[in-house]
Amino acid sequence: MTKRPTKFVFVTGGVLSGVGKGITAASIGNILKSRGVSVNIQKCDPYLNVDAGTLNPAEHGECFVTKDGAETDLDLGHYERFLDMELTHSSSLMSGRILQKVIADERAGKYLGKTVQFIPHVTSAIQNEILSTAEGFDVHIVEIGGTVGDYEGLSFIEAIRELALRLGPQRCIFVHVVYLPYLGASQEIKTKPAQNAVRELRGLGIVPDILVARSEDKADSHVIDKLSLFSGVEKEAIVLLPNASTIYEVPLTLEAKGIDDVIVSKLDLKARKSDMKEWRQVVARAHNGHKKTVKIGIVAKYLNNQDTYMSVFEALRAASWHEEIKAQLVWIDAERLDNEKQVAVALKGVDGIVVPGGFGIRGLEGKIRAAQYSLKNKLPYLGLCLGLQMAVVAAARNAGLKTASSKELDPKAKDLIITTMNNQVGKENTGGTMRLGDYDCKLSPGSLARKLYARDMIVERHRHRYECNNDYRDKYESWGIRASGVSPDNHLVEIIEGTDHPFFIASQFHPEFKSRPNHPHPMFSGFIKSL
Ligand code: GLN
Repeated sequence: MTKRPTKFVFVTGGVLSGVGKGITAASIGNILKSRGVSVNIQKCDPYLNVDAGTLNPAEHGECFVTKDGAETDLDLGHYERFLDMELTHSSSLMSGRILQKVIADERAGKYLGKTVQFIPHVTSAIQNEILSTAEGFDVHIVEIGGTVGDYEGLSFIEAIRELALRLGPQRCIFVHVVYLPYLGASQEIKTKPAQNAVRELRGLGIVPDILVARSEDKADSHVIDKLSLFSGVEKEAIVLLPNASTIYEVPLTLEAKGIDDVIVSKLDLKARKSDMKEWRQVVARAHNGHKKTVKIGIVAKYLNNQDTYMSVFEALRAASWHEEIKAQLVWIDAERLDNEKQVAVALKGVDGIVVPGGFGIRGLEGKIRAAQYSLKNKLPYLGLCLGLQMAVVAAARNAGLKTASSKELDPKAKDLIITTMNNQVGKENTGGTMRLGDYDCKLSPGSLARKLYARDMIVERHRHRYECNNDYRDKYESWGIRASGVSPDNHLVEIIEGTDHPFFIASQFHPEFKSRPNHPHPMFSGFIKSL
């Protein structure tokens, strides 16, 4: 039997960016999977960056890391959580990577004397990346970042238009996500910007098959009539998506409105009935009553923007929903923890703290002080990457080694408890040179880590340059910590925990990337249960 060819769902956005294109794409994937369709998903970002590793997380949100070590856009985190699958570097395509390839090919003489142009050379390079990522799946979902009409996104839009033409009928559909603003003065939802956004897309040669209309509040159904009339999209293929109380509700809304049926029929897919039972449970848990409320302090330097630590927040949510505990997350400004007194005031009333990953020296001393406080006062502590490094320095300082530091904080410090790995020396500040992606870790018998994971070997994702300095490892017991997770060759410390503490654990890897709304991560579950 020959395999049916892959079908494509292209997701674009109009009116504004940031209205939930990523969640829409991920939700479509989620429902199709529940209908027994195999799905892959990819994000095309028009930035000129080669990957997301060098982007400022305060501006662009978290840098999500895949198992094969790609530094990607945070939408890949949504994809993994909604599709419950592990993606690879091929799911994140930035203009920089395409241009790099086209220019390298030109230098290698591969264009055989031709003039190298955006159309067709860049657009075919994009299509090739999309086609190779799609291979072997029933459906491949491709989200185009930014807003249609943006100058820098034009080659992606042109590439998918050409691809649809090349693949022929019933192989591709276009989903356009638009925004409906609310006009307070006349108390109505306006459709004009959405109409213009559809016109803009048509002007680029793409006729949308499905419209997803986002709004703050619930919109009246007559909005659908109006949108249909002006955009030419059938009413059944238009879905109104007001703000949801949790993003995990979106697949349920799309399914309830029958958008999956529209996709299945337009693409002529072989699909069974959807089964959203497990997903319904996730949403129910988010809304259910809870046994207690806990207050978790997030000790960080980028405050107020949850996007910066997206996967950490989602992991905390998943674990607390699962334990029927309401987690109240509060920001603790690491730059304002200048002395013990300030730390005590800031952490008063907090049931536990999380020190997430980070780069650069800002706020590092504050993070060390918070970890010192947590060790001394037996306050539950979860450290993620940088949170491990600061915890080890904190334990050393608590034990009297005042000159203990990390190379990132003070390269000239006398006792570099955290230092650069040998193969990283001289590569600081360079893109793509950190220890990235999946590495094995061996857990020590009888440790908290071993108890949480309930297994001896684990695989977790990494993104860091600095490491625990092995010259100090024999001091750990006297500092009140132990290395309870190490690389299989024992050269690298992966997890440390407090030896006389109810819950003090930190990992050199990022467990948050592997947490799922339907399968919370053991480190996060353990932390929530300890509060
Ligand atoms: N800045 C630290 C390092 O490079 C920690 C990185 C992180 O938290 N992801 O090792």
